Amino acid sequence: MAQYPDVAIVGGGIIGLTCAYYLAHEGLAVAVYDRGELGREASWAGAGILPPGNPAQAASPLDCLRGLGAQQFPRLSAELQELTGLDNGYRRCGGIEFLAPGDADVPALWAAEGIAFERLSLAAARQLEPLGELPGEPYLLPGCAQVRNPWHLRALIAACQRRGVTLHPHTTIPADWFERRDFVAGRYVVAAGAWTNEVLGRLWPLPAVGPVRGQIALLRGSSCSRILMVGKRYLVPRGDGLTLVGSTEEPEAGFVKETTHSAIAELVAFAQRLVPSLKQATVEQAWAGLRPGSGDGWPYIGPIPGRESIVVATGHFRAGVQLSIGTAQLVTDLLLQRPPRVAGDAFALMRPPPEARQSAFRS
Ligand SMILES: Cc1cc2nc3c(=O)[nH]c(=O)nc-3n(C[C@H](O)[C@H](O)[C@H](O)COP(=O)(O)OP(=O)(O)OC[C@H]3O[C@@H](n4cnc5c(N)ncnc54)[C@H](O)[C@@H]3O)c2cc1C
Repeated sequence: MAQYPDVAIVGGGIIGLTCAYYLAHEGLAVAVYDRGELGREASWAGAGILPPGNPAQAASPLDCLRGLGAQQFPRLSAELQELTGLDNGYRRCGGIEFLAPGDADVPALWAAEGIAFERLSLAAARQLEPLGELPGEPYLLPGCAQVRNPWHLRALIAACQRRGVTLHPHTTIPADWFERRDFVAGRYVVAAGAWTNEVLGRLWPLPAVGPVRGQIALLRGSSCSRILMVGKRYLVPRGDGLTLVGSTEEPEAGFVKETTHSAIAELVAFAQRLVPSLKQATVEQAWAGLRPGSGDGWPYIGPIPGRESIVVATGHFRAGVQLSIGTAQLVTDLLLQRPPRVAGDAFALMRPPPEARQSAFRS
């Protein structure tokens, strides 16, 4: 390992760590800096839902990033296990999405992308899962998968170490870092999640990027076997008697990373209406995380204009896990000055807002 890294990454969440893993694979000396424990912020708090996708038929660059994740998570998971012996909990458990009348266009989006799905009768849905209230038209999505965030992060951290990445937890990078001369790397990635402006503020503020709190409860009790999605609410069965119910969307909470009794009670009531057997469940744990919002749900991935050696990767909002592989591949292409495999301009720092269209997945 060189004295100074080829690439210094600010932020050791799923975005920073996945970038580190892919960059190290290219033979670069990589260092990751995080002000706390690695992978303990939004990335740890998430539900790990991986919707299906197909990059070859994606309608937008964002769908393409999601599709790369859907396509490559099985291979990355197997690779991490082989390198580290650690299971990241990846499972293609399938899902049922309940569509509201306003979501009538969504099945056409899935069909155009080549995503497998099946419209279920109410009786068929009830045969598959112990459902109570049916909050919409049920659609089976066999390609829906999940990963267990803390397990995936643990495996990523170990795999980064195996690939020679140097990890610096508890190291806060100050706002003037890029103007100083005492930290030297050839290239930089800023992946500081909701806190990105604290690092980038002087150089290239991204006013749309900021925290959007999400709360989750972990229930112990018999439940569904597939992921159940109702708009922005969902149940994720973990397969060991535990079920996640999420999540809230609270930009007004700012950087306050706390749960509230009312939100957790509301999530538990939602879970019990959807799967009545959860009335016997106990709340094992509840937590909150700060998603990096971007205003329009699209991440910012690209170099700082005029400072091409600094690439930003932030604002992944509700989808940082599913977008992590595509993001790391795009960041690698940008830093190595290769033709990007995703239309990179769509995520550039000076990008216009994306065209308004219904998204294929909301949870
Ligand atoms: C409740 C909830 C449910 C979610 N469910 C899903 C889901 O099912 N599927 C999905 O794909 N996504 C989901 N998400 C979204 C996903 O978790 C995020 O988009 C993703 O974790 C963002 O990753 P990140 O690495 O950008 O941010 P983070 O994980 O927040 O990492 C940023 C890191 O930067 C560090 N940092 C900040 N400032 C500095 C500094 N000055 N110096 C050094 N380090 C610094 C922080 O300590 C932190 O570790 C969910 C999020 C939440 C909160």
